[in-house]
Amino acid sequence: MISKPCEITIRIEKLQALDRRLAPYHQVHPEVTTELSNRMAGYRGEKSLDFHLSMLPDKKYYIFHGLRLLYRNYFFQLDNFLLCSAFGLNLEVKNMGGELHFEKKFNQMVQTKKDSSARKTNPVLQARLQAIKLKKWLKEHNCLDIPIYYLFVNSNSKTLIISEPGNEHITQHICNSEFLIEKIAQIETNNKTDLLDPKELRKIKRLLLNNHTPENPDILQHFNLTPKDIPTGVHCPGCSFLPMKYFRGSWNCPNCKLKSKTAHYQAVHDYFLLIKPSITNAEFRHFLHIDSIHIAQKLLFSMNLPYTGKFKDRVYHSPALWKE
Ligand SMILES: [Zn+2]
Repeated sequence: MISKPCEITIRIEKLQALDRRLAPYHQVHPEVTTELSNRMAGYRGEKSLDFHLSMLPDKKYYIFHGLRLLYRNYFFQLDNFLLCSAFGLNLEVKNMGGELHFEKKFNQMVQTKKDSSARKTNPVLQARLQAIKLKKWLKEHNCLDIPIYYLFVNSNSKTLIISEPGNEHITQHICNSEFLIEKIAQIETNNKTDLLDPKELRKIKRLLLNNHTPENPDILQHFNLTPKDIPTGVHCPGCSFLPMKYFRGSWNCPNCKLKSKTAHYQAVHDYFLLIKPSITNAEFRHFLHIDSIHIAQKLLFSMNLPYTGKFKDRVYHSPALWKE
């Protein structure tokens, strides 16, 4: 069963907001677009794995996507982790095209595309490192010792994976998505003894979910930007024009003449992601270009956001980023 589904991360949401807000000619815009498209490719790769994982017997496995855990002051992330009563399995998923050469010497991986070659981080070693960290993490949390296996899964079906002879210690940990279920069956055959009873399994599941800490980066700082670099206003949901004007109970687009009652939702969402996870009436008026306190209050209220404080000191919080 899926215990933690594959979701768009906060980092991707922040990149999307920045991509939407920054002027196309802004100097960091190309960097933002590149990072966003790389991360979306990674997300789609993981999502595509869901189809293959859905073939697994539902009751046997707990499946966790994107777990991020703290171990000795540093976070480590597991793209996909499978847990059953006999073993754990860490899947490092990539969507890499071209040819992947696994060289025996120095444990290197070289990716070749058309005429260019580049050395890339060896995903098998990455998968192994995460598995080792998880094993230590489980030990520190007083869990029973189970074998943790690891695989690098490439989700691009056109990719050619090449390895030198004598490199089996690496290649046994590589597979394409299509072969994944068979690979898991092989691991099952070699690990038939139940090491964890249902109670212990549930305990580990709870521990993993309770200790998961989503990454919440300061995206402006990451690109050396300040709130002043972010254009204010409400985007038109039809043609993306900025800013719409609020008039007679709806948002009006001067460009395509579209009217909307809810266009402010996206602007407030962008504010939470890029500026800060809370907003006051005054900040709302400034960011959304509204003059009236009462209209601002009405619009904020329509969003059903969690809030603290009374009357004019009221602060509205992002439902996703706010913890009581
Ligand atoms: Zn428009």
